[in-house]
Amino acid sequence: MTEKIYEGKAKILYTTDDPDVLLTHFKDDATAFNAQKRGTILEKGKMNCQITSALFQWLESKGIPTHLIKQSAPDQMLVRRVTIIPIEVVVRNIAAGSLCRQTGLPEGQKLPFPLVEYYFKNDDLGDPLLTRNRLLVMELATPEQLEKLQTLALSINQNLQDFFSRCQITLVDFKLEFGINNQGEILLADEISPDTCRLWDQNQNDPQSRVMDKDRFRRDLGNVETAYQEVQQRVLDELASQ
Ligand code: UDP
Repeated sequence: MTEKIYEGKAKILYTTDDPDVLLTHFKDDATAFNAQKRGTILEKGKMNCQITSALFQWLESKGIPTHLIKQSAPDQMLVRRVTIIPIEVVVRNIAAGSLCRQTGLPEGQKLPFPLVEYYFKNDDLGDPLLTRNRLLVMELATPEQLEKLQTLALSINQNLQDFFSRCQITLVDFKLEFGINNQGEILLADEISPDTCRLWDQNQNDPQSRVMDKDRFRRDLGNVETAYQEVQQRVLDELASQ
């Protein structure tokens, strides 16, 4: 018996026969600007599911615990049930997006160190940026959990930067979500895909042509599907060559 327990903007979560296992279905729907812009990216569900499964499996091999069990269909992933921590952990290597809008830093400026930021996962409040103390006051995580989130986020960043660089792709920034399993362990959850990362093609200099991620959709740059396909191809080729 499967039952839909949650439908988000890009994924649907179902129960399975095993109470500890959930099924994630990746949708082709795309939203941006807190769902004010909506559309469809053809085959996105399959591409993001494939990219997420491949990267999670690879991160596991580097010692990062994830909720992935296995990819069970082109657009479906079996995952361990976790309670999602309502924080979006963003890691930035290069200034882009809201960091530029809020600080005036020019897009493309390399940051002196990877910047780890925390946003409150709350659509009604527009996912506001949190300080570490606000997060603790709100009891979204304990101080120990916060330390662990930061360590995991930085380690994932280091690993992914190396990985994407071998794909001729610059990892500009990305968003992570974490969950807690019934043993109290923190596991990487959700997805890592062109929907949740900024990825720039190192073979392109032009600021628009280099974009290989959801900014193509957000900014109406065209060729969204082709860009996602190219990311998928390079990720799979890199894994095959290892
Ligand atoms: N991001 C995401 N989901 C969100 C907000 C941000 O996946 O709800 C990702 C986004 O794709 C980018 C990074 O987090 O790779 C940083 O996003 P930013 O804060 O710059 O927000 P934006 O400019 O996209 O509004």
